[in-house]
This record gives sequence, structure tokens and C-alpha cells, in this order.
Amino acid sequence: MAKCSICQHPKRKEIDKALVSGTASIRNIASQFTISYDALFRHVKNGHIKAKIEKAAVAQEKAEAEDFLTHLQNKKIRFNEMAKEAKDSGDPHLELKVYQVESKFVEMEGKALGAFKEKVEHTGKNGAPIEHQINVPEEVKKVAHLLPNVKL
Ligand SMILES: [Zn+2]
Repeated sequence: MAKCSICQHPKRKEIDKALVSGTASIRNIASQFTISYDALFRHVKNGHIKAKIEKAAVAQEKAEAEDFLTHLQNKKIRFNEMAKEAKDSGDPHLELKVYQVESKFVEMEGKALGAFKEKVEHTGKNGAPIEHQINVPEEVKKVAHLLPNVKL
């Protein structure tokens, strides 16, 4: 593989950042860093920054997954509180309602956790490819959308 002068450039980070931000054209960036337009164009065309961006996207998804896990855990704690409150209120209808909603939630949670755990594991240490998990985000979005609508 031929060496890319942009990848070797001491300001590569800033160059990639400028390219990704989309605020300047390749030509503008080339003149800004006094580098060859052709070399910069090849750097972009050959996908040298793509690998970097994908790595960042994986890290972002992992962070979102972990946030969501925390969110689910907090919901679970709240359900336990509500169940106790309902029991203390002495109203069996209220208690039943809490359990009904909770059982639905637990079902959704199980699906979401299963999907997320798989995802987090696969995007762990080595940032392994996640192409084969293409169905996961859609599934999770569905569940995440349902959660705020859970009302007694
Ligand atoms: Zn390059």
C-alpha cells in the first residue's frame, strides 16, 4: 500500500477534523494546511478517515447503550417503589395495575437488555464490526419509544 502524505502529516488530526466538520471544501482545507489538493482528495476518496469515524461512531453507540441500561435500572427501582406505595395504600386495584405495567416493562426490558448486551460486547475492546447486528438499533428504538408512554 502506497504511503499517504496526509496520513503521515503531523496535523492529520486537525485535517481530518476539518474534513469531517464539512464547513470547508477539500480545496479550502488543502490551502489552509498548505497541502496538496490531490493528496487530500486521495486521502478522502480512499476512505482513510472513514475508519476513524467508524471507530468514533461505535464508541458513541456504546455510550448510548450504557446510558439506556442505566435508564432501565432507574425505571426498575421506581417500579419497586410504586409497587410498595400501592401495597401500602391498601388498594388492590392500584397494586394490580402497577404489576400489570411492570410485567410489560420487564418484558420490554428483557428484549432491550438482550440486544444491548450483545451490542456492547461486540463493540467492546477491539471495536469489532457491528454490521451483522443491523436489526438491533431498530428493535431498541421501538422499545425506547414505548417506555416514556408507560403510564398508570
Ligand atoms: Zn490518508
